[in-house]
Amino acid sequence: MSHSDSTEGSVADHIKSVRDEIARIEHTYDRTPGSVKLLAVSKTKPSSLIRAAAAQGQIEFGENYVDEGVNKSIELKALDLTWHYIGHIQSNKTRPIASHYDWVQSVDRLKIAMRLAEHRSPDEKPLNVCIQLKLDDEDTKSGCSPTELEPLAEFIDSAATLTLRGIMTIPAPREDFEQQRKVFAELHRWYQKLKSNHAEVDTLSMGMSGDMEAAIAEGATMVRIGTAVFGRRDKPGE
Ligand SMILES: *Cc1c(COP(=O)(O)O)cnc(C)c1O
Repeated sequence: MSHSDSTEGSVADHIKSVRDEIARIEHTYDRTPGSVKLLAVSKTKPSSLIRAAAAQGQIEFGENYVDEGVNKSIELKALDLTWHYIGHIQSNKTRPIASHYDWVQSVDRLKIAMRLAEHRSPDEKPLNVCIQLKLDDEDTKSGCSPTELEPLAEFIDSAATLTLRGIMTIPAPREDFEQQRKVFAELHRWYQKLKSNHAEVDTLSMGMSGDMEAAIAEGATMVRIGTAVFGRRDKPGE
């Protein structure tokens, strides 16, 4: 038997409790009620569980594997969900990302941004883009450095088929709450700077199941939650 034992009923319960938790944290840290969006990260999870979350009013879903997400979005087309690509981007995958997703949160280099701009049809709504930012001391493989942020943002801003929405970030996991906050606070400063140069920027995507509270305390506008909604994953999914 698989140890990811989620059922449709447990996903419905988890969606409600994660929402309650977000509301509690918003209150604790004087954030505007409802200002933090929940992105349900459904990578490796079957469409039946996505349906269960959607039945609770969840609309935004995140996927890490291009083709898996494309297949689910086609299967669940009638539900009119919003699909975010949050995984590493290989340049030979920019076409399916640009044609099947509503958002891409993991753009970290110009070459990828240019390919996405080219592959997004001008007949569609522009593709919503977050730049994945990593600070110098983080050990994740993807993400641009703070010095690369503004040139990349300028290109995205200028591309008719893309809309710059903000920053996504995945800090290295830390146990200590104050340490988590410190890193998120620095990421928030880069977000404010980006926002001051690009008025349409409204998204700071940071915080996962293990560090959601620190992220909201420091200004996240979107948290990306997998495990706390859908249960553990069989494959370690990064
Ligand atoms: C898997 C993943 C998440 C969700 O992580 P959990 O710890 O399961 O909540 C969020 N963001 C990204 C980029 C991921 O790959």
